[in-house]
Amino acid sequence: MNDVVSRFIRYAKIFTQSDPNAVSQTPSTQRQFDLARVLVQEMKEFGIDNAFVDGHCYVYGKVPATPGCEDLPAIGLIAHMDTSPDMTGENVKPQILHYEGGDVTLNEALGIVMRAEEFPDLALYRGQDLICTDGTTLLGADDKAGVAIILQAVEELLASGEPHGPICIAFTPDEEVGNGTGFFDVEGFGAKFAYTVDGGEITNYEYETFNAAQAVVTVNGFSIHPGSAKDRMRNALLIAMELNSLLPPLETPRHTEGYEGFFHLGEMKGACERASMHYIIRDHFRERFEERKELLRKAAEEIDRRWGEGTIELEITDQYYNMVEVLRDRMDVVRLAEEAMKLSGVESPTHDPVRGGTDGCMLTFRGLPCPNLPTGGHNYHGRFEFVPVQSLKTGVKIAKNVVSEALVRRVILGEQM
Ligand SMILES: [Zn+2]
Repeated sequence: MNDVVSRFIRYAKIFTQSDPNAVSQTPSTQRQFDLARVLVQEMKEFGIDNAFVDGHCYVYGKVPATPGCEDLPAIGLIAHMDTSPDMTGENVKPQILHYEGGDVTLNEALGIVMRAEEFPDLALYRGQDLICTDGTTLLGADDKAGVAIILQAVEELLASGEPHGPICIAFTPDEEVGNGTGFFDVEGFGAKFAYTVDGGEITNYEYETFNAAQAVVTVNGFSIHPGSAKDRMRNALLIAMELNSLLPPLETPRHTEGYEGFFHLGEMKGACERASMHYIIRDHFRERFEERKELLRKAAEEIDRRWGEGTIELEITDQYYNMVEVLRDRMDVVRLAEEAMKLSGVESPTHDPVRGGTDGCMLTFRGLPCPNLPTGGHNYHGRFEFVPVQSLKTGVKIAKNVVSEALVRRVILGEQM
C-alpha cells in the first residue's frame, strides 16, 4: 500500500507546468499527460477499472457504492494536475525537513533560506516534518497534494471496505492558466456535488469566492507634433491616467483584505494617439460588484464629457461569480465538509473567503455545487512552497470522512443513526 507522502513526492517530481501562452488548446502543455497516465495506471492497479484520460487531459474514474449504500448521493473529489507558470516546476527535488523553529535552510550551496520572520505560518509546525523544495523550483503541492490526498483516501477506502456511497474522481489540467473546467464533463462525471481539494492550511475550507469581471479600456487620443500641439493634442496616455484617477485610490489589491473588493490595473500601454488599459474587478458581494462596474462606466462617461464622445471605449466582461450564491441553498454540502474536518481532528475549522476564484466556482454555476477542501500547503507558486506531513495525513482523513456513509447519512440525508 502506498502512503500519502511517497505518493505526493512521486507526483511532485513529474513536470506538469501549464502555459498561459497556449490556452487556445487544452491541455496547454502535452507534458500534463505524463502525470495523467500515471494516475490512470495507479487507479487501475488499486481497483478503479473504469479510470481513463480523455483527449483534453481530464482524468475520470468512478468507485461504486459499497453494498447497502446505493441510495447515497454520488460525491465528487477533484484536483488539478498542472503547476503554476509563475515559477519553474521542472526537476523538483522534494526534501523532508524536521522543523524545530527558526529559519529553514533549503539549499546550503545556493544560500536559499526560508526566514521565520518572513513566513510566520512556519511557527504552526514546530515539531513537525515539512516537505520542502531545494529552493530552485516550486513544490507543486498546489495541487499535487490534492491529487495525492484523493487517491490515497480512495485506495485506503477500497482496501478497508468501509461503507461509502458512489465516489466520482476527476483530475483536471490547466487550472493555473484559468482554463481548468472548460472541457469538464459535468454530466459524465456523475456526482450530485463535489469538493475541489485545492485549498491551503489544513484547518480552513472555502465556499465563498470573489465575483470577477475584467475591463478592457481603449483610450482614443489625438497625436500631433508637440511643437504645434497647443489646444489640439489629446494625449491618450494622460487621459488614461485621468480615468484611473476617478477610481477610489485605496480600493486596490495593495490596500484591501478579507471581504474588501478592488479594482486592479494589471496592464497599461500605448502612445499619444491611443492607449489601452486592462483592469480586473473583484468583490465578494454581488451588489457591490455591480456597483464597481457601474462606477467604471460612469468614470468613462465623465472622461467622454471632458474630452469628447468616443474618447473611451469600455468593454466589461464577467468572468465568474461567488459560489456562495448557489451554495446558500446547499449549505448541507458545506456542512458536510466542516463535519468531515472535525471528525479528522480539526477542532474548529475556519472558512476564510477566497480572494480569487476556484475551479469550483465554474462547476458550481454549471450545476455541480463544489466547495474547496484544504491540502495543507503553504506559499504556493514559489520556491518556499511547503506542505507539512501531518497536514497531508489529515487531508486524507478529511477526504475519507467526507464520503463516509455515517456522515453523509446524517448531514446530507438527515437520517438519525
Ligand atoms: Zn491550485
